[in-house]
Amino acid sequence: MEAHTISGKLTRSLKLPRSKAAHVLGVPVGTGPSCRPFPVMSARNLILAGIAASALALPPAAGAATATPAAGGAAPSSAGTGGSSPTQAPTTTTTTSASGSTTQLARDAQALGTTTLRAGAKGKQVRVLQRVLTAVGYRVRVTGFFGALTRAQVRRFQRNWTLPIVGYVGPATARALRDALAGRTPPARNAQPVPPAVSVDGWTFPIRGAHNYGGPDNRYGAPRDGHTHAGQDIFANCGTPEVAARGGKVIDAGYGGSAGYYIAVHTADTQYDYFYAHLRSSPSVSAGQTVSTGQLVGYVGETGDAVGCHLHFELWDGAWWNGGHTIDPLPFLKAWDK
Ligand SMILES: [Zn+2]
Repeated sequence: MEAHTISGKLTRSLKLPRSKAAHVLGVPVGTGPSCRPFPVMSARNLILAGIAASALALPPAAGAATATPAAGGAAPSSAGTGGSSPTQAPTTTTTTSASGSTTQLARDAQALGTTTLRAGAKGKQVRVLQRVLTAVGYRVRVTGFFGALTRAQVRRFQRNWTLPIVGYVGPATARALRDALAGRTPPARNAQPVPPAVSVDGWTFPIRGAHNYGGPDNRYGAPRDGHTHAGQDIFANCGTPEVAARGGKVIDAGYGGSAGYYIAVHTADTQYDYFYAHLRSSPSVSAGQTVSTGQLVGYVGETGDAVGCHLHFELWDGAWWNGGHTIDPLPFLKAWDK
């Protein structure tokens, strides 16, 4: 565990540009980490689609009834005050009509997320979004126009479901809405206690739990189809907490292509940015947020092009996708790995 520390490299770092606009470039996450030489995403998506479809076929009573209190939202639409779900039958006194409308809504909801819905949008998809929001306890008027209230309720939903609080609806939020509609509850905010971080020169190991570095194929620089592996893979049990290796600003967080769920952090006091990919689910932090060293940011998963739960860790000398370049993070990781 020789001291291959970052402080030893600080001298030439300070000249590097410190742009905070990395995300403006339209980060090519899709070309980023391909942790395995073959893609598995499409097969996984097919499987997931099958799971989602069967889950959506559940009786609606399980859905709305359990989702609403968990979400801490407004009263369910069956309370019957005006303004909710005008496109549905106004009475929900019989199980069959409720079942029918909810099943239909679940079917309609499957298209949510295929195009991003944001403030100012209008049309059928917005109506579906508004009906789903209302059904899972975030009541809005079903107007077909994405206005201020819809945006506020989307943000509330995103906060309760530990999604990035962005106020628009993309694939991750759409999937969570379908989960809510199917009766699932939001992920616990701190499902597992995160062991205290050990700081080494202001850095800490990004995984809190047993782990290993895989084999030659998981090393930085390992050959990939058309490029080389830009990070170091760290394997751990699915769901193991991931923490910020160093405090800084989250410059991007979300879901993208081969990276799956990811975050990118710009450190405030070094020349390095870093990047995590394949998180199990939406990161616990969102773009623009400040994180502290050791703060929980998500859990080890295998979203995107990944086989086996692991963290794809990239260390960037300079700004992430904005003038910087990746370096071999393994010596650093080993130094932090106490
Ligand atoms: Zn990788």
